[in-house]
Amino acid sequence: MKCELIAVGTELLLGEISNTDAQMISQGLSELGINVYHHTVVGDNPERLKEVLTIAKSRADIIITTGGLGPTADDLTKETIAAAFGKKLYMDKEQRERLHQRMGARMTPNNEKQAMLPENCEVLVNDWGTAPGCAFYAEGCHVIMLPGPPSECTPMFKYRARPYLEKLCTDGQVIRSRFIKIFGLGESAMEDKLAFLMNSLENPTAAPYAKEGECEVRVTAKADSEEEAYGLIDPVVGQIKEILGSVVYGVDVTSLEEVVVKGLIDKGLTISTAESCTGGLMGKRLTDIPGSSACYIGGAVTYSNEMKMKVLGVSPKTLENFGAVSAETAMEMARGIRKLTGADIGISTTGVAGPGGGSDEKPVGTVYIGLSADGVDKVIKPELRPTSSRQRIRNSSAGSAFDLVRREILEK
Ligand code: ATP
Ligand code: MG
Repeated sequence: MKCELIAVGTELLLGEISNTDAQMISQGLSELGINVYHHTVVGDNPERLKEVLTIAKSRADIIITTGGLGPTADDLTKETIAAAFGKKLYMDKEQRERLHQRMGARMTPNNEKQAMLPENCEVLVNDWGTAPGCAFYAEGCHVIMLPGPPSECTPMFKYRARPYLEKLCTDGQVIRSRFIKIFGLGESAMEDKLAFLMNSLENPTAAPYAKEGECEVRVTAKADSEEEAYGLIDPVVGQIKEILGSVVYGVDVTSLEEVVVKGLIDKGLTISTAESCTGGLMGKRLTDIPGSSACYIGGAVTYSNEMKMKVLGVSPKTLENFGAVSAETAMEMARGIRKLTGADIGISTTGVAGPGGGSDEKPVGTVYIGLSADGVDKVIKPELRPTSSRQRIRNSSAGSAFDLVRREILEK
């Protein structure tokens, strides 16, 4: 099966937004084993959309479009696609009723346009917004239309388009995946370790991905039932965890900070942060996790030496002798915040995020992370590349700090 994605939207062409819908859908299609050969982006222009459809029809078995399903004059996707496949639009009464219920007094006549759908289509009910999607088969091609806003497109793909596609490519079977999350191992090192296993697998299959300084292995199986699929997947997940060891921080979890927050709560522990080079990023990432108030007491962004001394009690001698970017300062920062807040664990970052500020002795990417807990004093110096961007260094520093906390929790 070959699929082509068509993103409709002039704002994509102007570079005002990036095509994140296409990324999300492509990832989902690869899980289903559907090949994506083309991503096309076209403006809100019926003529050019028609041209693009003619080409897509000739080379794809499945066309998925995003955007242009809304009520405004530039939302022309449905009309244009229906015409390109010789289909008429009809007013879907059920969808019109849904729109009235959802919008109430805000309903305007042009809003009703959203309930116009191509004849003989399967309606993809939109529980996350107003415009329904739809799918139909015509001229040898499956066509699926999804709304543009990612908050609608993502669940519409997952819960509406994906089941439709699963039926097409699995003969009634289901496809399920688990995601093994890894921190602290490069992608090529991971592939080296897993190559012999990955090459020998057929069902399930395992595929590696690199993602913003982290790695991930996706294990996917096709089977008659969900239970059977996970029955095939789980032993392989176990094998991979055994091979990779403690760099695996979770399976089917979203982030390191999620694992940290959950781990702290499970063990009844609290944490506080003392941040220099990460400038509040650790606090931000921890508080991104709902429920983190049960374990995160708070933190201090101590960027200047003065703040490190005043707030955290870092000694002037330490700063003078070793510098702000040093194992000694990191350790005193972690101890200081722990003392100040009474948390079970204090965690700190101090480093050179660049692009300027590096020296021969302490090049860009020199970062120290301190951890203080009952009877525990630890400092690590993660390996960060001096050529990495400021953003990357800060993100990786926060990641390394969370990984250190995760490992500490495991020992508790
Ligand atoms: P609406 O009902 O909001 O009008 P729509 O289905 O008509 O939805 P568009 O009008 O094309 O979709 O886009 C609405 C918004 O959705 C865009 O302004 C943009 O913020 C977002 N969007 C559209 N297409 C994409 C895309 N491919 N990737 C990421 N965001 C997108
Ligand atoms: Mg729109």
